[in-house]
Order: sequence, then C-alpha cells, then structure tokens
Amino acid sequence: MKLKNLPLRLVKGGPEQQAIEAGEIDAIIDHASSNVILLPAARRALQEAAHEASKANSLLAALPHAEHQRLLAGLEPVTLKFGEVLQEPGSPVRHVYFPVDCVICLVTTPEGPEVGLVGYEGMVGISLALGVNVSSVRALVQASGTAMRMKAAHFIKALSQCPALQRELYRHADAKLALARQTVTCNCFHAVEARLARWLLMTSDRVRSEEFFLTQAFLAEMLGVRRATVNEAVGPLQRRKLIANTRGKIMILDRKGLEAAACRCYTRIAVSAPSRRGSSAARGLASSP
Ligand SMILES: [Zn+2]
Repeated sequence: MKLKNLPLRLVKGGPEQQAIEAGEIDAIIDHASSNVILLPAARRALQEAAHEASKANSLLAALPHAEHQRLLAGLEPVTLKFGEVLQEPGSPVRHVYFPVDCVICLVTTPEGPEVGLVGYEGMVGISLALGVNVSSVRALVQASGTAMRMKAAHFIKALSQCPALQRELYRHADAKLALARQTVTCNCFHAVEARLARWLLMTSDRVRSEEFFLTQAFLAEMLGVRRATVNEAVGPLQRRKLIANTRGKIMILDRKGLEAAACRCYTRIAVSAPSRRGSSAARGLASSP
C-alpha cells in the first residue's frame, strides 16, 4: 500500500482510535511534520528498556539511583554498526557514548594502530569530562551493538550536577591514560603474535563472549601491520588450538593458553578493564589495590 503524505487526523471512534485503545498501535507517523509520535505505553516501555540497558554499562551502573535517574532523561539507546566512525581527530565531540554490548576502538590516525579499546566498562568522549570538546582520536566501532548516547551539551550540564559521575569519569580517564601508555609500549616492543593474543582477549572481555567477528584486514589495521603478518600470527595460535578462525569469526578455544601466549600487557591492562571469570587477568584485577 502506498503511504500518502497526509496531515495526521484521527477520527473520533474511527478504526485508528479503536486500535490505539486496544493497544494494537505503538506509534503514529505524522507525514506532514515527519514526526513519530509515541503513544504513552510505548514511551514508558522504551524508557524502561533504556533504564535496563544503561545498567549494563559499568560507569552508569555505579551511580547512585538519583543520579542515574537524572542522567536517563538525556540518554538514548542507539545501535552502532561495525566500521561506523563516532569521532574524528580534531572534530568537535557532539555526543558521548556509554557502550552496552558494543566495542569501540580508538586510533590516532585512520591507518591505526590502536591506542585504546572501550566496552561496557567505559565511555567514548571522555575528553569532554576533562574540559576539552575536541576529539584527539578516531573512535571506530569494532563490534556492533547497543550504546547509550547523550548530546555533548546535555552531558556537560549533567556532569556539573552529578558529583558521583565526575568521580567515576575521572577514574575512567586515569585508566584510559594507563591503557594508552601500555598500548604504545606494547605496539613498539612486543611481538605481533603476543599482541594479537592480547587484542583478542581484550575484545572477548568487552563483548563478554568467546566468539566474535574480526576480519584480518581490521586486525592488520589495529595492530599496524600488513595482512600477511596477521596471517603469520594467526596460524600458530590456530595450530596450538588456542583459537579457531572461520570467515572472520574468531572463537577462543583455550582461554588460559591464549593468556599464556599474550604479552604481559594483557594482565597489566586488565587492571583498568572488565574482570573476567576464571582468567588470570581477572585474578590480577581482584588482587589489585
Ligand atoms: Zn604487549
């Protein structure tokens, strides 16, 4: 059926109104104004879904209930797709993102290599919390999923009203600095195979799964090496049955073995990363002051 761009007009007692009252319609599209009007039940359901989703981000979940509720008014759930660029170096930060189940990698130039990784433990756009509204990195979606997004202006205002959020973000900024320092050292001094093992473990921690998609082209960019070099690093990990790699799908088969194959940066970085059940990195996290 072809939709006509007619002004919104509901007839009292008409079939549309009856469908609304029966709860069969969640929203109305007003073609004249291009607005989508959510009905109260759908709006409540979306708000509840946003509230639940936001709890999956560690920074938001750590906030006292009152601050969390206040922030929710400015947060909207968005779906981020693999390869999407959220921020570019030198460009104004228009939004901040609190990942729920997606992973964002940070690079300083389009060619990489990576200088950071952000998952459900953190936030993209942390420079705003430090008073800088221009991004110094490119933020690239590495694993598709959901994030809670907030406009920069709203975030700055919310930050001034939420001392607990400030504390959490300053801690997070410090952890990100430590991660960047360790990553730069790693990129300079450690072997590609060990760096690859670290990268796979860090990604697994953030997607909370032993299976995820990563193309070799993407891995080459993140590690700052040629694709042939990635192949040479993936091969030994596969032969030792630590990972399987089929059509871009990576499966971690032996986590402890992969941790042993990774450089020691993984354990050091894990101090500022999500804990992981049973992993040596998680034990390191638990024993950290
Ligand atoms: Zn390393």
